[in-house]
Amino acid sequence: MTDKNEIKTEERDIVIVGSGPAGLSAALYAARADLSPVVLTGMTLHGQASTTDTIENYPGFPDGIGGTNLGQLFQTQAERFGAEIIMDMASSVDLQQIPFVVETYSQKYLAKSLIITTGATPKKLNVPGEKDLTGRGVSYCGTCDGWFFKDKDIVVVGGGDSALEEGLFLTRFAKTVNIVHRRDALRAGAILQKRAVTNPKINFIWDSVVTEIIGEGAVTAVRIKNVKNDEEVIYETSGVFVFIGHRPNSELFAGQLDLDDEGYIVVDKLMRTSKPGVYAAGEIADPHYRQVVTSAGMGAAAAIQATRYLENLEEPE
Ligand code: NAP
Repeated sequence: MTDKNEIKTEERDIVIVGSGPAGLSAALYAARADLSPVVLTGMTLHGQASTTDTIENYPGFPDGIGGTNLGQLFQTQAERFGAEIIMDMASSVDLQQIPFVVETYSQKYLAKSLIITTGATPKKLNVPGEKDLTGRGVSYCGTCDGWFFKDKDIVVVGGGDSALEEGLFLTRFAKTVNIVHRRDALRAGAILQKRAVTNPKINFIWDSVVTEIIGEGAVTAVRIKNVKNDEEVIYETSGVFVFIGHRPNSELFAGQLDLDDEGYIVVDKLMRTSKPGVYAAGEIADPHYRQVVTSAGMGAAAAIQATRYLENLEEPE
């Protein structure tokens, strides 16, 4: 008799964990190599890029393309060649066993090779009020939540490309976008800087950090400290958008693969991790570029390497 709760087990040549540009490009290449890859999407279908309103720097789309749209096109193309995209997330991974074991909450996969494309998660400010007011005025995604701040004064934290790109997007809705940056020089690229400083709805609050998010049930203000003179002000706002970088989603692999000091999976030029047969691509292995096009390229490279690895397993030299 079969136990009703018994977890179904499937054997696969390639399992891909993550469904952003890296994961879906890997799926496309693995599918075209006739390896019937399975992609476990994780919580963010199509990855972080899918939360971007318009992607202007992915080649082939001279007028830009919506993040959701591009993610769906990646998926459709991979599926056309036989990739299976499963809306599920890996809950545990055992790389000590061969084949590797990847478990979700409902399924177990035995994988001859594994491609990790689990990406990264926005960093938190870790200040009082942030956790309680997340979803109640605190957000990490302008495209997702901007609409709720029509004609409101909002605060954006950060000075990189994300802060400026999202801040510019938020000017479509908000009355003013007030960018709080801890230094007096921006990290963002020149084009975004130029657009932001010339946008009449954007103000900069330099040399400053948010030390508290204030509100009962919804954000009403933030406490801002000037880091040069330690002066604090209470700044009224109904929204706080935080774009201060990312943390790699590598928890499942800690202790099993080499990670760098920040938790990124260490790969060589061929996308190989410290474990033969396991590859990593996209932002989980890339603290430097983090572009849709570079992630997609890494994903393709990982799949080509995994294909070669599997060929050598079948025909040892
Ligand atoms: P980022 O480049 O790491 O910038 C993070 C920003 O947040 C920096 O200005 C940093 O200040 C600030 N920051 C970090 N920790 C902070 C803290 N605890 N409190 C206050 N401020 C803090 O991250 P990102 O903007 O998310 O960009 C990540 C990568 O994606 C980059 O490589 C970027 O080029 C790329 N990206 C590209 C595009 C595009 O090409 N259109 C769009 C988005 C992202 P400091 O400057 O003082 O360090």
